[in-house]
Amino acid sequence: MKKRIYIAYTGGTIGMQRSPNGYVMMEGFAQLIEEKIPPRISGEMPEYDLHEYPTQIDSSNILPADWLTIAQDISARYDDYDGFVVLHGTDTMSYTTSALSFMLKGIGKPVIITGSQIPLSEIRNDAQDNLVTAIELACDFNIPEVCLYFNGRLLRGNRSLKVKATGFDAFDSPNYPWLAQIGIHIELNQRALLDTSPSTAFELPHNYNARHVVPLRLFPGISSQLIDAVLTLPYRGIILRTYGVGNAPDNDPELLRAFERASAQGKVVLNLSQCLQGGVHQGSYATGSALTNAGVISGGDMTIEAAFTKLHHLFSCGHSAEQIRTEVQRNICGEISETQ
Ligand code: ASP
Repeated sequence: MKKRIYIAYTGGTIGMQRSPNGYVMMEGFAQLIEEKIPPRISGEMPEYDLHEYPTQIDSSNILPADWLTIAQDISARYDDYDGFVVLHGTDTMSYTTSALSFMLKGIGKPVIITGSQIPLSEIRNDAQDNLVTAIELACDFNIPEVCLYFNGRLLRGNRSLKVKATGFDAFDSPNYPWLAQIGIHIELNQRALLDTSPSTAFELPHNYNARHVVPLRLFPGISSQLIDAVLTLPYRGIILRTYGVGNAPDNDPELLRAFERASAQGKVVLNLSQCLQGGVHQGSYATGSALTNAGVISGGDMTIEAAFTKLHHLFSCGHSAEQIRTEVQRNICGEISETQ
């Protein structure tokens, strides 16, 4: 039986056109596909249904509620399709893939998110290959997780990062092997795929739009006043972007006391490295151990996108700060290495 694929089109460069103000969204993506993907190619493609969201957006405008909408759409159609493709802007694509991975935890079918750096409407573009390959991956392969496909790389969604603003090879997963390399052949890295029993007990909380988490990047000279100013805001999770393996200055007692105050107020303070590769080891230096003593917990080798959406998801599911301190350090769907 011919397989069926569901394509959710959210917007992004892939469906844009030039304007005097730069690229803008254009109407009629389904027609564009027909024009741009010649019948000799489209004839070989699986059957797909394209769902164009009523308002397509530059992904810089995305909100957590939009992540929930996409997850709900996939969940509602889970039994009707063999695989799912989400077309999305590249700027916040890794946030969306990460958020979907938590909401659709245990999914037994491929969910492949892609987009492009040059619109499909342009003669020279990376959109056609990304689109066609994403559909093929969603159709022909047993990939039981949320992934990001871009320029020959299939990456675990919650390990992916946009690493280049303009290159076609815009995405990578510095802390996890690629799930597949796509050249002439599609080489699936079977051992890197998630190995969990599929389940459709997805976690789709009612309200996903409350603002729960704020990232705070350390810089030389950062003051306790800045931390205290952030503490007055109603965020319940703070992601502290620290140096190297998770270090922060330990020669400013006020700064450390500010972190202690945050934990005492029931906020979850998660330590994440500013480095692209590797992760947090809070015990490696005294400067890291001081954070442990101040109640800060390690985010291991998670990306900022994974950490942000994981905390957001856990808060949206209504867990207490205490539960979240444990859960956020646990491997839920391949987003964090167990031993580092
Ligand atoms: N600004 C665009 C977006 O994220 C960039 C892209 O799609 O490549 O929607």
